[in-house]
Amino acid sequence: MIQRYSEVDARKQTANRVAYVRNLDKITSIPPDEREKLKKVAQKYVFRANEYYLDLIDWNNPDDPIKQLIIPREEELNDWGELDASNEQAITVSRGVQHKYPDTVLLLCNEVCGAYCRYCFRKRLFMDDNDEVTLDVSEGIEYIANHPEVRNVLLTGGDPLLMSTRRLVDILRRLREVPHVEIIRLGSKMPAFNPWRLTHDEELQKALRRYSTPKKRIYLMAHFDHPRELTEPAIEGIDCFIKCGVICVNQCPLVKGVNDDADVLAQMYHNLSYIGCPPYYLFQGRPTAGNEPYQVPIVRGYEIFSEALRRGSGLARRARFAMSHATGKIEILAVDEKHIYLRYHRAKTPELRGRFMVYHRDEQAYWLDDLVPVEGLAAPKFEKESCFDVIDGPE
Ligand code: SF4
Repeated sequence: MIQRYSEVDARKQTANRVAYVRNLDKITSIPPDEREKLKKVAQKYVFRANEYYLDLIDWNNPDDPIKQLIIPREEELNDWGELDASNEQAITVSRGVQHKYPDTVLLLCNEVCGAYCRYCFRKRLFMDDNDEVTLDVSEGIEYIANHPEVRNVLLTGGDPLLMSTRRLVDILRRLREVPHVEIIRLGSKMPAFNPWRLTHDEELQKALRRYSTPKKRIYLMAHFDHPRELTEPAIEGIDCFIKCGVICVNQCPLVKGVNDDADVLAQMYHNLSYIGCPPYYLFQGRPTAGNEPYQVPIVRGYEIFSEALRRGSGLARRARFAMSHATGKIEILAVDEKHIYLRYHRAKTPELRGRFMVYHRDEQAYWLDDLVPVEGLAAPKFEKESCFDVIDGPE
């Protein structure tokens, strides 16, 4: 099931560029009165799309998943969640540099994305008064050079593949000059939003071939959310990364109305495995302000994920369902009639590393902080108001 995107459509996307759409009035498939309501949402949480991606929407279906992903909804204005739901501020060591786990540093090197996913957990970066991102990564690279334990650098933001080729290649070159950096990861949704980003850019292809070496690879952490994003140009785009020596994997959140369906997820996992970009993580949506309409409870999420894995190929079954909590990355291992079983896959503090935890089953819980621990089973209780502190733990 591959979405066709014809030669003619592809030619509409001139040279290296897709035509961006920032004004909802340009989307005439949305009735004018609805557009007026949505403009209020876009004033708070900015809207950005492009003609290629908008062309994937089936406007005859009001619940179309691609539409849900990119077009604002009034419910985003509900008072719910926090802008920085997993307290990234607490792990920011200098502007645009996050260091949570010893071997991994994140460089937030761009504050723009190819389009804006409505469920984004970093939507605060796109707000006018935010200054968490820096285009000059010199300080970040110096920090990494001074921390020999850092082996793994993730370029993120925003989307690093939306930077100019010159800037991106410069960052890759400078990171490769740091001997202890082994893995460079590009966290990007550009393969979904603009499949031609790499295929039309020979200079970037050359740089990837140069800096993704047999001993030190570059990884693409692609972000496809729905099988319909895997169009023919998108598949060619992934093929181009692979031919440049980049290892491709996919990670995405579970999003209500987009991929909260085992059939949809299984289909996407099949297709991703076939094209050489197998699923890596499925994330539980963070309780981010504006994201209430996109949330799926943990228990339902686990059921969808495990059913999708049962139908998937062996490679798809390597995927993990996890929560990126302020205290660490927590895998949702299993759910039964009474309990939810979790384990820290990565943890910020040594005492939580690898910890296995059992909480009472709660159909309405969206996040670790909503869960009640089973006594005596090493499960810390996290307070909603100060979700970044362990309040109580038996160990
Ligand atoms: S691509 Fe990632 S960072 Fe950009 S809007 Fe989507 S979820 Fe947010």
